[in-house]
Amino acid sequence: MDFQRLLDEIAHRLMHEAGREGAVASYIPALARVSGAHFGIALRTCEGEEASAGDGRLPFSIQSISKLFTLTLAMRHMSEDALWARIGREPSGNPFNSLVQLESEQGKPRNPFINAGAIAVADRLVGLYGADAKGELLAFMSHLAGEPIGFDHEVAASEAATGYRNYALANFMKSFGKLDHDVDTVLDFYFHQCALSMSALQLARTAGYLCRDGAHPCREGAQVVTERQARRINALMLTCGTYDAAGDVAFHIGLPCKSGVGGGIVAVVPDRLTLAVWSPALDATGNSLLGMKALALFAQRTGLSIF
Ligand code: GLN
Repeated sequence: MDFQRLLDEIAHRLMHEAGREGAVASYIPALARVSGAHFGIALRTCEGEEASAGDGRLPFSIQSISKLFTLTLAMRHMSEDALWARIGREPSGNPFNSLVQLESEQGKPRNPFINAGAIAVADRLVGLYGADAKGELLAFMSHLAGEPIGFDHEVAASEAATGYRNYALANFMKSFGKLDHDVDTVLDFYFHQCALSMSALQLARTAGYLCRDGAHPCREGAQVVTERQARRINALMLTCGTYDAAGDVAFHIGLPCKSGVGGGIVAVVPDRLTLAVWSPALDATGNSLLGMKALALFAQRTGLSIF
């Protein structure tokens, strides 16, 4: 299949729609001033072929897509029992920053892809790496991307300055005895992971292990996670990766996806490719409006789906 041509077509068709509908995330100035008119798309096949179109090479704030990579990092280094003791694996059916379920479920987040769950994962990584946790995350991301990946420090600082809800979630979990480490230290890590700055192409490459049964995206013979772990991450992406839109995404797109409020979405076609899209204007569930359209179009045109 001529993927470059297909991505060019999708970009050509959707670029003029960019920013017409939906709203760019506005909870911090650094995201609010990003133009809604961007659209980028990129992919990397299991064999290493890459293609990108539109703004596919422009870096943006990956936000909640980072939850995929911190979970992967935790799975690499922790026993299953230890990791899953405090985090569930059920779709939440609630917005990504909701406090409601946490109270009735005694501080145990529904899954690792909502904010509370990612904060619980961050607590584990702070436990594993101590003061080096942010550096370890950068090293891991750069190792997968094959080039240096960095934080947008302005985004990280504003996340911290305005992260009232995330402070509430973390303090709430702490009150249930479900966070081991200091709330400020755990959230400093969490705010930085949200502030990772990457392009769609870098994301497609970095997430490559998810379509390669856990094998490193480009280093032959190196394993990022086991095949079983890669399957499990994909299963969680399908059921929980797009918050309260996960059912609709499975219905319309049929691929494991992880989204972020920066407007990015990563999708996996197991054994074939990883695909990343970016368009900052979001729908009411906090998922990129045009990004979802692009994924649906891609799935329709290629017939690629896990079903
Ligand atoms: N920084 C955002 C938050 O913590 C990330 C949420 C998202 O991308 N869905 O709320």
